[in-house]
Formats: sequence, C-alpha cells, structure tokens
Amino acid sequence: MKAVFVDQPGGPENLRYADLPMPTPGPGQALVKIAASGVNFIDIYFRTGLYKAPPPVVLGMEAAGVVESVGPDVTSVKPGDRVAYAMNRGSHAEYAAVPAWQLVPAPDGLELRTAAAVMLQGMTAHYLTHSTFPLKPGDTCLVSAAAGGVGLLLVQIAKKLGATVIAMVGTQAKGDLAKQAGADHVIVYTETEFPPEVKKLTGGRGADVFYDSVGAQTFLPGLDSLRPRGMMVTYGNASGPAPEIAPLLLNQKGSLFLTRPTLAHYASTRDELMWRSGDLFKWILDGSLTIRIGGEYKLADTAQAQRDLESRATTGKLILEP
Ligand code: NDP
Repeated sequence: MKAVFVDQPGGPENLRYADLPMPTPGPGQALVKIAASGVNFIDIYFRTGLYKAPPPVVLGMEAAGVVESVGPDVTSVKPGDRVAYAMNRGSHAEYAAVPAWQLVPAPDGLELRTAAAVMLQGMTAHYLTHSTFPLKPGDTCLVSAAAGGVGLLLVQIAKKLGATVIAMVGTQAKGDLAKQAGADHVIVYTETEFPPEVKKLTGGRGADVFYDSVGAQTFLPGLDSLRPRGMMVTYGNASGPAPEIAPLLLNQKGSLFLTRPTLAHYASTRDELMWRSGDLFKWILDGSLTIRIGGEYKLADTAQAQRDLESRATTGKLILEP
C-alpha cells in the first residue's frame, strides 16, 4: 500500500510517498481503509524530529474510513463500519491498523471527509474549552492563530459556551474569518503588540485564559495579557516551543496558572472520546459548527500540504485523500 513517511527527519523534501507493507490488525485492532486523512501541525513536528519516533515514521494522526477487517477479540466494530479516529500515527496511508477503542462511529449523513477534518482539531478545541479551562458566560478568552485549523473551531465553541473571544491572527483577511466564526474582537498581532490591546479590550483587567498555539513568539507576551490568577494554556509550537521559565515568573505576572496539555491525555478513555466526538458530530449535523476545509490534496502531495501549513498561508483544515 502507498504511505507517506520519513526515514530521516528534515524538510518536506524528506517526505517519501512509497509502498510499505500492508498493516495486519493485531489483537484489539481494526484495519481501516482510509477515505480521508487530516493534516495537522503535529505531522510537521514528526517530520522535523521535534517529536521523535523510530523510522520509518509514517505520518498522519487522524482519518476517517471504512473498517476492512478486525483483529482477534474485536467486537466493537465490524467490516463495513464507517469510522473516524485521531491520535494514532500512520493515517497518511491507504490503510491503517488502529486500536478499536479509538474508533468512533461516523453518523449517517456525515461525510467521511468532514469526520476526518474535525477529529483532532475539534477534540482539541473541545477539551481546551470544556476541560482545561472550562469557559462560562462572562469569561474572556484570548485565542492565537484564530483562523487556523484548531483556531476556527475554538472560536466557535467558545462562543457556544457564552465567552467573549479575542482572536489573534496574522493578517486582516484571517481576522475576517475569525469574525465570521463569531470572534468579538480581532488583533492582527503581526502589526500590533497584543498585550496592551488585550488590556484595553478588557478594561485593564486582562483575559481569563490564553489558549496559545504559537508558542515561542507569543508565550512571554501572553503572560502580560492575563488577569491575576488567569490561566496560560500553551498547547502548540507553531513558531517553536515556548521558552523555559522560572516558576517565580508566574507569581510576578499575577499568580498565574500554567499548563501544557495534549489531546492524548484528554481523550484517553472511551467515554471521553465519545463525549467529545459526539458533541462535534452533533453540532456539525445541526448546523451550529462549521468546518472550513481550506485545502484538499492527494496523499502523494502531502509535502505541498505541509509547505502550505508551515508558510502560514492556510486557513481552516487541510485534508488528504488517497
Ligand atoms: P494552524 O492551522 O493553526 O496553522 C498554524 C498557524 O499558526 C498559522 O496559520 C499561523 O496563523 C500561526 N503561526 C504563527 N507563527 C507561525 C510560524 N512561525 N510558522 C507557522 N505558523 C505560525 O495549525 P493546526 O490547527 O494544525 O495546529 C495549531 C497548533 O495547535 C499547532 O501548534 C499544533 O501543534 C497545536 N495542537 C496542539 C494540540 C494539543 O493537544 N496540544 C492538538 C492539536 C494541535 P497566524 O498567521 O494567524 O498567526
């Protein structure tokens, strides 16, 4: 089967689209014929070696497709079932062997490409807003890369929960998209220093929470954008990892809380997985959550999809089809 992988970490030119042996589902696993696979920043981290795995490192952390066969003891899914999953590496391929407990049913009426598009970034936006810092009416959240894959979903879900959203974006055009998604305020942070703007927009108080995926460039100024006892949620490294800090800095910036979460720890049980994906699918089907697919590529063109994502030129979700 065809798959996308790296033998050596490096640039997009190191990505190979070539044949690998077809996986065989082991105990507890199902073999999924991939219909669509989502592109995520984490694929870039595995390609560059920021996140490590033994070669060949097959990329892709989410997909939707149809169960082809199941391993011993698997009763939760059967051949022919339409399923979706996230956080199991190897989805940039024609087939993937996936732990059956990670497969959620794709409801009738939901296209597989849409299911693939929402799993990883949608469950991330869900856990950040429902579990890491649960938003409630009256809260103000600051969201970086607000027109990106996670960003546009985060903005919409934060609005569902009644929060005020300050969206940080790289260009005015991205700001327009964030506004359409429901953002109350937009800061083009490539043109304006954002902490004074956030203070102004919150009457001098600061945001309750900063959901920050940009990392290196936004982490330290982000600490100056929070209210006393606010929470810094640094959940990504799009501009490089956030710098190391002394705990005392959190005291000096207002007894802040700091967390560096990952989806794997917030979708670690079947119940959590069904809760988060179930909410997302329900909202898509009732029309209250819009999935913006910003680019569709052939699996063979994964390198171009990664170049586009890295270049900051994309909005919403990028997906690959075999
Ligand atoms: P995005 O679609 O958000 O793309 C990245 C965006 O980051 C860009 O469009 C750009 O938006 C912004 N950005 C700022 N600086 C840079 C830079 N130097 N290089 C590239 N982009 C930059 O990607 P995803 O939605 O896939 O992921 C967003 C982030 O969320 C990633 O950092 C990812 O690792 C993280 N993530 C974390 C998870 C977790 O559980 N911890 C799970 C899922 C994603 P702009 O121009 O508006 O600044």
